[in-house]
Amino acid sequence: MKEKIRQYAKSIGFDVAGFTDAGILDVAGVLKDRERKGYLSGLEKGDAEERTDPSAMLPGARSIISLGIYYGGSKRKDSGGGKIARAGMGRDYHAVMGNMLGELKEFLQKEYGARSVALTDNNPMVEREIARRAGIGFYGKNCSIINPYMGSFIFLGELITDMYIRPDMPLEAGCGDCDRCMRACPAVAIVEPYEINAKKCLSYITVTKGFLPDDMKRRLQNRIYGCDTCQEACPYNRAGSGPNPAFDMDMSYDTEDIGFILTMNNREFKDSFCMTSAGWRGKTVIQRNALIAAGNMRAEGLANTVERLLSDPRPVIRGTAAWALSRILGKKSLGLLEETYRVERDESARLEISRAISGSKDKI
Ligand code: SF4
Ligand code: SF4
Repeated sequence: MKEKIRQYAKSIGFDVAGFTDAGILDVAGVLKDRERKGYLSGLEKGDAEERTDPSAMLPGARSIISLGIYYGGSKRKDSGGGKIARAGMGRDYHAVMGNMLGELKEFLQKEYGARSVALTDNNPMVEREIARRAGIGFYGKNCSIINPYMGSFIFLGELITDMYIRPDMPLEAGCGDCDRCMRACPAVAIVEPYEINAKKCLSYITVTKGFLPDDMKRRLQNRIYGCDTCQEACPYNRAGSGPNPAFDMDMSYDTEDIGFILTMNNREFKDSFCMTSAGWRGKTVIQRNALIAAGNMRAEGLANTVERLLSDPRPVIRGTAAWALSRILGKKSLGLLEETYRVERDESARLEISRAISGSKDKI
């Protein structure tokens, strides 16, 4: 039965499938410890108990099928523009995975009369722990789930079901004495092996709203959505097996083009970002990150575009544009920033602009 389910899962596009029981996940203590240390991002859903009890998702649950779709081939050539993490390219995996899980759920119902619920990052459950227990991969020191053959660029989803399926065995840990991901992390967010301070992690920072502190802005470099650095450093991600046909990699616009991102209207944002996994936080966050990237790259060719955003209706865009302009033009931006400060009425934007003025005074 298990092999029949696995074969069906592969036939509809899943690259890997594993099985575990639906007992409580043994990580509530770890989650509480991370919360106590202030390492959670704040985007997590539910408390430690809700996040570790599969039967809360499906009363009578007996087994969980953990499924993965490989997306490592999504890497584009670095164009020197903004960086979008691989998970944010191509079609939104929540939709792709959701349809595939729906097909598998129907298969289980028809073949075995099973009741199941499908999960795709839309629930409190700790998906990585389910994947580990189901033998899909082991935890890397960067907290990714690493499959020995595919690496860690794998989208995860689950079916919790009331049918009994014999569990698979978890895999042995595979990092050994390697620490490449820890050394590669530009934010020192991997505080110790297998522990990330999500509040420092640039992947999380790119989706927080509002103004960002200056040190965070500088660390983001040209990241516009997400961060792949620790995964790219990992030897398990060297092989790569090409793009997954489940994802359409041809996006309407070149989303790495910072000039385009800074000037896109709502329609263009919808066409270029909303069908990807990078669109959920909205246009303002993506444009704020693009301003930060322009500032960090000291992109003189974008100075006029950034200058126009000093009068944008959104305070976070006005303030971040001031910061970016001070980075791009240095002292040459002083007059313009002082004038902008005089007419600015929003307190948080005024603070950001005054910092940009002080910053540009220090530059040549
Ligand atoms: S995603 Fe980026 S910032 Fe976060 S731990 Fe990995 S390298 Fe560090
Ligand atoms: S880079 Fe090395 S330590 Fe980090 S996850 Fe990969 S194998 Fe493990």
